[in-house]
Amino acid sequence: MTKCKFCDKEHFIEYFENRVEKSIKKYNMLNKDEKILVSVSGGKDGHAAAWVLKKLGYNIELFHINLGIKGFSESSLKAVEELAEKLNVPLHIINLKDITGKTMEDIRGKKCSICGITKRYLMNKFGYEHGFDVIVTGHNLDDEVSFILNNILNWNIRYLGKHEPVLPSHDKFLKKVKIFFEIEEELILKYAEAENIPFTTVKCRFAEKAITLKHREYFNELEKLRPNIKYQFLAGYMKNKHIFKCEEDENFEFRECEICGMTSAGRICSFCRVWKLYKNKNKSNSK
Ligand code: AMP
Ligand code: ZN
Repeated sequence: MTKCKFCDKEHFIEYFENRVEKSIKKYNMLNKDEKILVSVSGGKDGHAAAWVLKKLGYNIELFHINLGIKGFSESSLKAVEELAEKLNVPLHIINLKDITGKTMEDIRGKKCSICGITKRYLMNKFGYEHGFDVIVTGHNLDDEVSFILNNILNWNIRYLGKHEPVLPSHDKFLKKVKIFFEIEEELILKYAEAENIPFTTVKCRFAEKAITLKHREYFNELEKLRPNIKYQFLAGYMKNKHIFKCEEDENFEFRECEICGMTSAGRICSFCRVWKLYKNKNKSNSK
């Protein structure tokens, strides 16, 4: 008799880990010789990613950025420390304030976009400077479909060709992998609970207005009417995304940022641009 994937906890864990392993193979995401930096926020997704990779025998270390957001960052820090202890793997923590002189709490304006640019830049820089081969994040199927929908609604054609489970390395950009690209958020939560993985449920209060959160709600409503619609939407996208590929992007020449020396699309990378902008803005405000 075949096992039911959800009939008990043990079968669910086996089903989940098999699905992740299949995804890793299907997209040729990782291999066991690579030195992997798993970027963890304190939430369930990154923590489950680290947990499952350790169980599958990959060579992982953890990385966390303390963003200095009141309430949220303290509970995130506690959760990542607990995870590192349970997994018995090295944990690297950096403080945003030590690098930029400010926390995410201190700055005003479009926090989510700046936060995204900042996290992507800092995880890449740390991984590059410390000899890692690849960075794994906890982005899941729900994240991907809501990003894609957002880019369709705004007709961001250039971004529409770019949703990938694996971004290959390029100069000082490390390879980036989303091991949960095809895995539903609901299943990740179920796995984290079944395995007793420590994580925080405290949400960043600045993220509440992000439009992609709304898109996630629509998808969850649709999923009730048409089960598996998220997966089908992603699978259809993967099949058809070549139509959005832009020749200019294929031959794009990256350069080194004039301020920090990291790989950049323009003269100054987006991280140096946004943080420099903020310094200028603060100077003009204090006049
Ligand atoms: P988010 O942008 O908050 O949806 O997070 C997406 C992924 O980025 C998470 O699953 C983590 O892998 C990573 N991440 C988010 N916040 C942090 C953080 N403070 N430190 C390190 N990695 C993070
Ligand atoms: Zn720079």
